[in-house]
Amino acid sequence: MNLSIIVPCYNECESIDEFYAEMINSLKEEKITYELIFIDDGSSDDTLIKLKEISKKNKNVKIISFSKNFGKEAAMLAGLENSSGKYISIIDADMQQLPKTLLEMYKKLIDNTEYDVVAAYREKRGNDGSLKTLLTPIFYRIMNKTSEVSLLPGASDFRVFKSCVKDAIISLPERSRFLKGMFSWVGFNTIYVPYEPDNRKYGESKWSLLNLIKYAIGGIVSFSIFPLAVVFIIGLFMFLIAFLNLLFNDLGIKTVIFFISLNGLMIGIISLYLIRMYKNSLSRPIYIIKEKIGFKSN
Ligand code: UDP
Ligand code: MG
Repeated sequence: MNLSIIVPCYNECESIDEFYAEMINSLKEEKITYELIFIDDGSSDDTLIKLKEISKKNKNVKIISFSKNFGKEAAMLAGLENSSGKYISIIDADMQQLPKTLLEMYKKLIDNTEYDVVAAYREKRGNDGSLKTLLTPIFYRIMNKTSEVSLLPGASDFRVFKSCVKDAIISLPERSRFLKGMFSWVGFNTIYVPYEPDNRKYGESKWSLLNLIKYAIGGIVSFSIFPLAVVFIIGLFMFLIAFLNLLFNDLGIKTVIFFISLNGLMIGIISLYLIRMYKNSLSRPIYIIKEKIGFKSN
């Protein structure tokens, strides 16, 4: 089989029909063999019912349904682990990323054999003055300046890649997953193509500002120990100041309070890493499958 298409879905019942129709149209034009793997990430609407209707009509449609909402990262991993195409792709179900763009990316990968990954990125960034658009470039700056991976600003999970890249990603055992960073970490030749996401027609984005901040912190903690190094340097600096003060004069109460609160902040940063280690050490599964439909083994 040529192409596995992985589609994470969380409460997307309004988008699925249109997405499926567009996807099938684009695939027919190219005459490629494919599997369309939908992951129902514990939706509370009719997403699973819709998906089952589609899978009855088309044997290339496969469904993995989770026992609850585990998040898009878990959904993408389940898709990767259950895919068998020579090429693999990931696309959102909400029609913000278009099936015809995915097929263009696929053709680009086939035509340029020296590349292993074709990744779409948002060239133009939204400029609505929201906190989200303000914080995004700061995140990419911190990530790229301090971590062992480099992320193209605007990079997304919207990608087509060879199965060797999939194998490399699956081989990374961490439980707290940040796929964009993992793609960068495993290496391979990547070609970036700009795309402009369409507006969401149905439903709403699952990303609140708080979720995005958590996601960004997760990314930094996964791939950078720079914040820990900063904690050490500040600690050393505080110690030196305190020592010199001890020798030459008294520390003012304001200085003491300042240092105590700085300590609190530094413990907070260390805790972020501790939380990550704690979660990884529990070794709970990243997702739990309730039902699998359309796969050969079931
Ligand atoms: N999604 C998911 N699990 C979640 C949240 C989102 O599988 O917990 C899916 C969602 O259905 C969509 C894709 O991930 O297909 C991207 O989500 P969303 O559109 O909310 O993100 P945005 O486009 O706003 O970044
Ligand atoms: Mg979206």
